[in-house]
Amino acid sequence: MTASLLADGLIAAGSSEEADLVVVNTCAFIEAAREESIEVVLGLSASRKDGAKVVATGCMAQRYGDELADALPEVDAVIGFEGAPSIAGAVGMAVSQPVTLRSKPKGVRDLLELSRPKSSTPWAYLKVAEGCDRACAFCAIPTFRGKQRSRGMDSILHEAGELVRGGVRELVLVAQDLAWYGRDIDRPGDLAPLLREVDALRIDGLDRVRLLYLYPSEVRDPLISTMLELETVVAYFDLSLQHASRPLLARMKRWGSAQQFLAFISDIRAQQPDAAFRSSFICGFPGETEGMHQEMLEFLDAAQLDWAGFFAYSREADTTAANLDGEIDAMLIRERLSELHSVQEPITAAGRAALIGTTVSVLIDGIDDDGMTVGRTFREAPEIDGIVRVDHDPETAFAFGAIVDAIVTGCEGPDLFASAIRSVRAR
Ligand code: SF4
Repeated sequence: MTASLLADGLIAAGSSEEADLVVVNTCAFIEAAREESIEVVLGLSASRKDGAKVVATGCMAQRYGDELADALPEVDAVIGFEGAPSIAGAVGMAVSQPVTLRSKPKGVRDLLELSRPKSSTPWAYLKVAEGCDRACAFCAIPTFRGKQRSRGMDSILHEAGELVRGGVRELVLVAQDLAWYGRDIDRPGDLAPLLREVDALRIDGLDRVRLLYLYPSEVRDPLISTMLELETVVAYFDLSLQHASRPLLARMKRWGSAQQFLAFISDIRAQQPDAAFRSSFICGFPGETEGMHQEMLEFLDAAQLDWAGFFAYSREADTTAANLDGEIDAMLIRERLSELHSVQEPITAAGRAALIGTTVSVLIDGIDDDGMTVGRTFREAPEIDGIVRVDHDPETAFAFGAIVDAIVTGCEGPDLFASAIRSVRAR
């Protein structure tokens, strides 16, 4: 979206308070995401400078445009994905302030094809496909994002090269269904060859490649063997499991069972004992019995995932689950969520504590509110997992993008404290 606005001739402001135009990309995935989107819109509206316009766009604007416009009078325009030549053009029309547009880059198919602007962090998301071919019963994404459209490998590699040569050390590959990459362009199984090509960018300074959102049926060779073999691809497995009960997963129209999940997790650990695992789960899907919930708790105990997110089931329009019987009472969902957290939290905490005394490789990517240098090892994905706070000699200021060896000295919640030994590679 940023790339589209830049391509149309707009100039990025230093902060939302300085901007003439604030564009909020909303999310409509579940109730909690919609609430957060509204909070962000309200917060940015309140802090904008005099005369600045606020525009809500993205999935929530697409799905609930009229309701959103009625509910948020502070917003100057609500713009979905369709019916406009570009976001900037639509913004100009919507706020009655024509925006001077440059000509669109040639050959652009949709937003997926626009290169991102230079990253301000030493890591960057790299989108390899848009849309989804699956039909999970709880999910409305395919209804508004459409079928999967994979980017051509050349386009991805071009963007990856530009990002790496611009200072990015970690590329985070994303798509709604990442391991399905290539199927829609008659190239099933193309993620492994893509990884090999991206891995070659290490000679330009790429240090890590991280994969997010792996649908569990695709967690198999050659993808796994390629991930474990390549130097830059980290052993971080972000699995989209959603539940552990086979009958409930079948009701969700998803693949898998606790047994199948545990089998591939243990297989990966046998090859790479240090591998990190994350997954997210839905609690209170219609028809979830006490027995299914117990199975979920037992699965967490057996799987010992490093990270897990739990979400209350949210009934979404235009999904098959919206018409299912067996709705679970909201109070019971809250109880079950709390049980899930109470099983997982000690597992995550024990995993963090076990790292104390070990040497880790930290990609420096920020400064926290107390002025402390922070970064991430391969175990922490940006913006979702914990971070590593790095203590170092005040004379040695580590630049963003430096890779630092550090000894873990402690932990607090999801975060680690570490003491720098040396900078392995400065940038
Ligand atoms: S794979 Fe993900 S995006 Fe696709 S339908 Fe299922 S939950 Fe939605």
